[in-house]
Amino acid sequence: MSSSKQAKFYESVQRNFDIAASYTDIHPGLLEQIKVCNAVYQMRFPVKIGENYEVIEAYRVQHSHHRLPTKGGIRFSHLVDQEEVMALAALMTYKCAIVDVPFGGAKGGVKVSPRSYTEEELERITRRYTVELIRKNFIGPSIDVPAPDYGTGEREMAWILDTYQTFKGGEIDAAGCVTGKPVKQNGIHGRTEATGRGVYYALREFFKDKRMVEKIGSTMGIAGKTMVIQGMGNVGSYAGLISEEEGGVKIIGLSEIEGTIYKADGISMKEALEFRKQNGTILGFPGSTTLPDRGDWVAIECDILLPSALESVITIDNAHRVKAKVIGEAANGPITANAEEVLLDNNIVIIPDMFINAGGVTVSYFEWLKNLSHMRFGRIDKRFNQNTYSNLVSLVEKLTGKTIDEREKAILTKGADEVDLVRSGLEETMVNAYENIMEVYWKNQPKMRSLRSAAFVNALEKVAND
Ligand code: NAD
Repeated sequence: MSSSKQAKFYESVQRNFDIAASYTDIHPGLLEQIKVCNAVYQMRFPVKIGENYEVIEAYRVQHSHHRLPTKGGIRFSHLVDQEEVMALAALMTYKCAIVDVPFGGAKGGVKVSPRSYTEEELERITRRYTVELIRKNFIGPSIDVPAPDYGTGEREMAWILDTYQTFKGGEIDAAGCVTGKPVKQNGIHGRTEATGRGVYYALREFFKDKRMVEKIGSTMGIAGKTMVIQGMGNVGSYAGLISEEEGGVKIIGLSEIEGTIYKADGISMKEALEFRKQNGTILGFPGSTTLPDRGDWVAIECDILLPSALESVITIDNAHRVKAKVIGEAANGPITANAEEVLLDNNIVIIPDMFINAGGVTVSYFEWLKNLSHMRFGRIDKRFNQNTYSNLVSLVEKLTGKTIDEREKAILTKGADEVDLVRSGLEETMVNAYENIMEVYWKNQPKMRSLRSAAFVNALEKVAND
């Protein structure tokens, strides 16, 4: 991806902001303050790689301080540049507002390709980056709280926490300096799957929504809908797994770095992930066809297209090829502003990134709350609820004279574990956010063209009123 293409990502975010701003009566001065990035920290630091020292380029951008801490993932990619991180940080502000997560937006980027380094080298890079953030006061549970993004995961988050604690050992809330940590190291159950699960909840709501389903000329209910996914990383894999297992979606196309496969009668996501793990590629997956070009995933006819890899993958050059009814922006910024015009002209609905992939930051918020409370969710009330439900079941048995079978009894009397509460909180958040966005969208018909504008308006009004 060229740097001019990356610049378009930031431009696209700003252009979408301006379109949405025209639907609000927020004062222009306040709009300008919301639009700009509040703090940009660009750094260079040396890391010993083999016998040499490499100078690593990295960034942390805090887009908005209207709420603190600021929050946003850290991306490891050789494509990272300042504008990309600024665009991603801005999206985080709007995303947090949409799902009522009380944080400002931020993002981090380290310009490295993780595949080119050993685990030990990556650890050194991550720890050194964290030290830079500590030195400039760009990290802390009440300041700025990173999380995983493209190219990073719970391993990197554990290194960040450990480095932070080395320097700030006495801080009682130190564990809240980063989210997306392993469960055993102050993480939370359900964080790894959270973004993908949120994507599924959003799609499920969409296909329950009669007006939207009629708009795209489809049928009610997500079960049986066909899906194509680009990117089988954290977001793409869980979105696929959960849509298939809980929603009955049929995945017919998968695209990864090595190419794109198609299988009309459905690909099991679980088997495809296992196959790729064993063989290092999805090409050759049993029963599938490899499409001539990796980029052909955009043109597969399907109900749901899920770009889940990187930004600016649907552009003015390929937007006319899209034959999906709905695009769920599981990745951040996968559609350029110009491409969006083409898609909207073709009656394709785009469920915007700042809503559909907000599950990750929602559960990160739960993790941060858990860290500040120093207690896992469910510890206080689980047994109490179980006992109450048991008493109720016994009462029903006594009053009716019938015996409820043991399996049903176990389901009825189960108290919620942490993961149950996290999933329920995430579902509640995504469903509420969907309804809020739709309210803005229908209120502004026929003028408002996209759900993105509706989501943006919803976010801008919340940020402006803070
Ligand atoms: P990841 O690194 O886990 O996975 C990305 C996958 O995309 C990798 O498997 C990679 O090989 C693949 N990929 C890269 N280039 C590709 C190409 N040209 N064609 C096909 N596949 C390609 O990253 P992730 O955490 O899943 O993030 C993916 C996107 O989702 C990013 O835009 C990120 O900002 C966004 N996002 C992530 C989270 C999160 O919680 N991880 C939350 C919100 C949004």
